Amino acid sequence: MTIHSVKAILESLQKKETSPLDWVEASLAEIANKDGKVQAFLHVDAEGARQRAQALEGSGGLLGVPYALKDNLCTEGMPTTAASRILENYIPPYSATVANKLAAAGGVLVGKTNMDEFAMGSSTENSAFQKTRNPYHLDHVPGGSSGGSAAAVAAGMVPFALGSDTGGSIRQPASFCGVVGLKPTYGRVSRFGLIAFASSLDQIGPFTRTVEDAAYVLQAISGHDPLDSTSAPQPTEDFTAALTGDVKGLRIGVVTDFDMSGVDPEVKAAVDGAIAKLQAAGAEVVEIQLPHSQYAVATYYLIAPAEASSNLARYDGVRYGKRAAGETLLEMYERTRSEGFGIEVKRRIMIGTYALSSGYYDAYYLRAQKMRTLIRQDYEAAFEKCDVIVTPTAPTPAFRFGEKVDNPLQMYLNDVFTIPANLAGLPGISVPCGLTQSGLPIGLQMVGRAFDERTLLRAAHAYEQVRGFEMPAPEVNG
Ligand code: GLN
Repeated sequence: MTIHSVKAILESLQKKETSPLDWVEASLAEIANKDGKVQAFLHVDAEGARQRAQALEGSGGLLGVPYALKDNLCTEGMPTTAASRILENYIPPYSATVANKLAAAGGVLVGKTNMDEFAMGSSTENSAFQKTRNPYHLDHVPGGSSGGSAAAVAAGMVPFALGSDTGGSIRQPASFCGVVGLKPTYGRVSRFGLIAFASSLDQIGPFTRTVEDAAYVLQAISGHDPLDSTSAPQPTEDFTAALTGDVKGLRIGVVTDFDMSGVDPEVKAAVDGAIAKLQAAGAEVVEIQLPHSQYAVATYYLIAPAEASSNLARYDGVRYGKRAAGETLLEMYERTRSEGFGIEVKRRIMIGTYALSSGYYDAYYLRAQKMRTLIRQDYEAAFEKCDVIVTPTAPTPAFRFGEKVDNPLQMYLNDVFTIPANLAGLPGISVPCGLTQSGLPIGLQMVGRAFDERTLLRAAHAYEQVRGFEMPAPEVNG
């Protein structure tokens, strides 16, 4: 049995052609067959998944569908490490709201996926535990930080997985691995039980094979949650009903003032081709400007580390995970944090602590916050002229292992197109829009108005219908 879309699995389950256990076994078989090479999973709970599939009853919207979670989403009784040594043996006493919602909808959790440590990175090479490979080309990275979730869906090990996106960590790996990745509006999905990186930017969302599946999973995980004070009091909407397949009259914004000099020519050609397809399908293409987005990466790399330095202060060896020995309390703190955190996490804690320190606060953190407002206001102006904004998801296709890991700035520039939407709190999606000559996927990003996922999904789904190709399944065996 091959893992297809969520929709196809649900249809087969509803007709009683297959059972939930059949799909769990199919998922486990694919993991057994492929994950030796892909290394997407940090933890597979085979027995637990079988039991959950057998115990299912009721009529939840995802009844019997297997899935995976990024390992920064807390799962009661199941290891949750954020791919960090400091949480190596951590087993949370509660589950994230999204995990509870998926369980209530009848989804069957099969395991936890690899990621950059604490979601800091763009290649999943910052995992303390293993390298996840891109299923389309095993010498290339899957993107990050949710690389394990993207690779697991791309390789057909699960029909969907959740990730988190602070500066692009759902959209960029989706683009690298040829799947759909959706970052909802900030506040749309509860962050309760998500291990915090930068709390004003973090948002949870799905990886799927189709836009329709993304709409379906969003429906299951969204909604107000009293346990997350930043979760919006928005009702859950019928997102699939928005997928009309039609873009007539929809205004597609193309940004004319982005610096495209670092964009790979094959990426540029694929994105231009996608815009032409949308136009041919009846969308109106309008030119827009986002003049302050050129400062988005610099702004993000002050705000995100500042928040991270504060969020990560809790890993002191006292309450969670690892504790190193020490003669004094201070020595215990120092050793725990020196041994427990990897180099990129330490770099962020240092940048963030510096940006927040007295004497530098106004020059860095406060200015970054002001720039964040200007970036958001640019979008507000742009959305008077258009309904969705289209750019590449990432400037390049998946790169090779080791290519950027020693040069943080190169790595950070991966996020030029994805970061602005996080700073503005807006929903964004990446949809496959082509393959390079060497067979690497390319992603098209669409960004929509706050809480207008319906229009965003409608545009992405309509593009998917007219794009004129199917993503070939990657060949991974053994
Ligand atoms: N690559 C970005 C970073 O390293 C974004 C990560 C994310 O979205 N979690 O911070």
